[in-house]
Amino acid sequence: MTDLAQLALDVAKHYGASYADVRIVRYLRQNLTSEDERIRAIHDSEDIGIGVRVIVNGAWGFAGTARLTREEVQRVARQACDIAAASATSLREPVRLVPEPPRVASFKTPCAIDPFAVSMEEKVGLLLEINRRLLKHKSSAGVIKKAQGHITLRKDERLYANTEGSLLTSEVVTTGVWYQATAVGMGDAQTRGYHPPPLTRGYENINADDLLNNCDRVAQQALEKLTAKECPVGVRDLILDPHNLALTIHESVGHATELDRALGYEESLAGRSFATPDKLNTLQYGAEIVNFVADNTLDGGLATWGFDDDGVEGQRWFIVEDGIFRGYSTSREVAGEIGLERSTGGCRADHWGSIPIVRIPNLSLAPGKQPLSLDELISDTKDGIYIEGMGSFSIDQMRCNFQFGGDAFWEIKDGRIVGMLKNVIYQSITTDFWNSCDAICDERFWVPNGVLNCGKGDPMQIAQMTHGASPARFRRVKVGGAR
Ligand SMILES: [Zn+2]
Repeated sequence: MTDLAQLALDVAKHYGASYADVRIVRYLRQNLTSEDERIRAIHDSEDIGIGVRVIVNGAWGFAGTARLTREEVQRVARQACDIAAASATSLREPVRLVPEPPRVASFKTPCAIDPFAVSMEEKVGLLLEINRRLLKHKSSAGVIKKAQGHITLRKDERLYANTEGSLLTSEVVTTGVWYQATAVGMGDAQTRGYHPPPLTRGYENINADDLLNNCDRVAQQALEKLTAKECPVGVRDLILDPHNLALTIHESVGHATELDRALGYEESLAGRSFATPDKLNTLQYGAEIVNFVADNTLDGGLATWGFDDDGVEGQRWFIVEDGIFRGYSTSREVAGEIGLERSTGGCRADHWGSIPIVRIPNLSLAPGKQPLSLDELISDTKDGIYIEGMGSFSIDQMRCNFQFGGDAFWEIKDGRIVGMLKNVIYQSITTDFWNSCDAICDERFWVPNGVLNCGKGDPMQIAQMTHGASPARFRRVKVGGAR
């Protein structure tokens, strides 16, 4: 494979490339979906190919192929150069990459159990047993009518080389599982799910005992939601659990601080951002206790890949430090536009045939520095709502005005949980919301949840990243019924 990569680089240089990089990537994917007492789908795929990216006359060109022969690799390397040369004729500004020291290195996910070596019987058996345990529940209000489960397994083997002398290899294994019960009764249908954190880990991350032990609770809470009170309309203090926060962080901080969006280069899919570079180091993004740490070296993080598709090493930096807006996720191309000397390493492609784009890193809300438990936080809240899990969301084009739901909701009165609510949504403006944060539980309660299906780009690419958090409280947030 190294020979083919070198050949592509040589051909690119021959046809005028001032810079070229090549990725040869093999993807293994296994997705299992269960529904009620059957397996609804098993997708099992393997895909390998090469992508060649070049700069000729200051413009990008890209081409790829799934046929890994010397002739074909020569053809695509030349094609990438032809495309770049053609693009250069309408160029306004030549592409400039900030420097990255060349490296020869390899990275591998810690993986005790290869998920692709685990038998299909074991995986199918687990999903069916989960569904069986969910479906046996009923109450005076209703019955569990539907159970769904899902296992996602990914292995990406990458070889990256560029004309600056970098030669990098990685093997990243990702494992995730979730399930959901739907209760029907009282003229209503309500769902409740269980989503342990997906991680870059082997099959040891699929903890069968933990999954099975949570089935009764999840089914009971789905049933309890049928008789829960509707969400009040007004202003409440919110306590958000790490899983709910993961999506709010993703949408209101992660996408808002992708530098290509902030510069106006990426408009698809609510693509721009209010967090423009003139606000760096001055904007009060959140309260002083709010720290957003980007960390592509995070153990088990979904964006912990060793290096990005620019060949830039995984790094750790602040997006928001003590409430102040401090940084972006960048590629080598856009980093220079705001005067950075090095890219933060956020340039990633979802396939050998996709052009890498700026991506959200592992981006987490740092735990509170004072000892604080979830129970203590609830005890300290007079009139509030505690929210667990992810629900629906919507956010505007500039990543400002938003609305989020959740998976389960409890009313808090005078420091005690008094019952479940349903159909809760909260609405705010990104900076108002994060500035209303007045308490964050400590590191004992920090959970590295994440997103496996972040869509961006045109044509759309899918990426994964971790968003850790501890439960946190937000004062006086607008809430309203979802129906
Ligand atoms: Zn996303």
